[in-house]
Amino acid sequence: MKISKSDYVLGIKCPNAIWFKKYRKDIETEKNQAVLDNGTAVGELACDRFPGGVRITAKPWEEAAITQTKSAISENVPFIYEATLSTNTGEYCAVDILRNNNDGTWDIIEVKSTTSPKDYHIIDASFQRYVFTQCGIKIRNCFILTLNPEYSRHGALDIDALFAMHDVTAELQDLDTVRANVARIRAILDGPELGIAISKAKCNRFYECGYKCHCWRGVPEYSVFDAFKGRAADEIYAEYGADLHNVPVELREQQMHPGDIEAYLGNIDVINKDILRDFTKKLHWPLYFLDYESIMSAVPMFDNSRAYQQICFQFSLHVQQIPGGEPEHYEYLHNESGTDPRPRLIKKLIETIDDSGSVIVYNQGFEQGRNSEMARDFPEYAEQLNAINDRMVDLLIPFRERGLYRPCQKGSASIKQTLPAFVPEMSYANLGIHNGTEASDQFMAFMTGKQTPEESKQMMSNLHEYCGQDTMAMVRLLDVIQNALK
Ligand code: SF4
Repeated sequence: MKISKSDYVLGIKCPNAIWFKKYRKDIETEKNQAVLDNGTAVGELACDRFPGGVRITAKPWEEAAITQTKSAISENVPFIYEATLSTNTGEYCAVDILRNNNDGTWDIIEVKSTTSPKDYHIIDASFQRYVFTQCGIKIRNCFILTLNPEYSRHGALDIDALFAMHDVTAELQDLDTVRANVARIRAILDGPELGIAISKAKCNRFYECGYKCHCWRGVPEYSVFDAFKGRAADEIYAEYGADLHNVPVELREQQMHPGDIEAYLGNIDVINKDILRDFTKKLHWPLYFLDYESIMSAVPMFDNSRAYQQICFQFSLHVQQIPGGEPEHYEYLHNESGTDPRPRLIKKLIETIDDSGSVIVYNQGFEQGRNSEMARDFPEYAEQLNAINDRMVDLLIPFRERGLYRPCQKGSASIKQTLPAFVPEMSYANLGIHNGTEASDQFMAFMTGKQTPEESKQMMSNLHEYCGQDTMAMVRLLDVIQNALK
């Protein structure tokens, strides 16, 4: 059986996962297309950083790829893109860029669309070095080429500055370790399906495993994995299973949020008026309820932006002048494909928010972070944006600290949980867009010209409704807090 580099990484992560990949196509989950697109775009740009090479055109699993690679190596070309070799026992891989050191040795350069090397990139590169070494190629160094998070675009892309090289040679698994791991993976694949052994640490190691919907299907919707942190959750699960009803009382003191398990088991609502009072003391009227929607791309799309920077394209703002007053709604939604939304969004925002009153957000880190970045990237607005940040109050806090908590929240204080718990008549289920990821994916399709005019029209209407709901939800949740204090 052939073993690819992704098989190798999966086999290191979990024996079940590699077995499923080979034999259970029926439970395979779809890959995220946006992540794949980012990877392809970054891979192509990376080859421009090392120009003048030869591209292997056959697919890595085709014999022709090996023939083309051997021919390019013998011609001593400076770079080979997608250089592919296979050992005589069936381990094979395509190296993104094979660099000729012109001294009989080559370097492996593996391109990753992240901003720093990850553990599994090192494992992947270890396997590549093993395969090429087994095939008689002298490998001198291995590099992971990532996007450079410090590079800010100005005009045309600066390909050299866009990327950062990381020499990982010293961190690689040695050849004997890879050989032993390959033997272990082959033994798993030669055997029958194993019993599934789930664990919070393993199933989320490197990335969230795509087989969770299969392996975790018996785990209750709210379980030990939600109530306890990583290692404690795994230890308690191993001893008592996932159902919180079976966890001994004395272990509850390890739960992440004291009282959550008791609330769940007894179906009890939690209220702590001190926490709610402390929160309301921070409020100064008028209140501005603010929410952003954003897109991000691996390669910076606009001047003054960086890899994976969140670019705000929409804000919704509900303004409540006096306690109990009818909120007025304002918003900005960028409607010009391919242009930077931020300058017009910032202008409209600072025209709409007066210079007194609290700015209420849900999960302050996000809106505050975006304002700080926009202040950095558009210094002409820095003073006003920083002033908005100084007035920010986070409505998440009283819910996260369990000032109010209902068992149906299942351990989460996100607005998608608190809203149905406390304002059940407001739901995201009937909207055309249900969450921030959908908003972002659809707007990115508009920005990159991948929508028809009809699709864009429908999306704009859905975005108006979705973002407006997020800020109206905050107005209503604050009402809930104030009513609880009466
Ligand atoms: S969900 Fe967990 S147990 Fe199942 S295959 Fe993935 S890592 Fe393995």
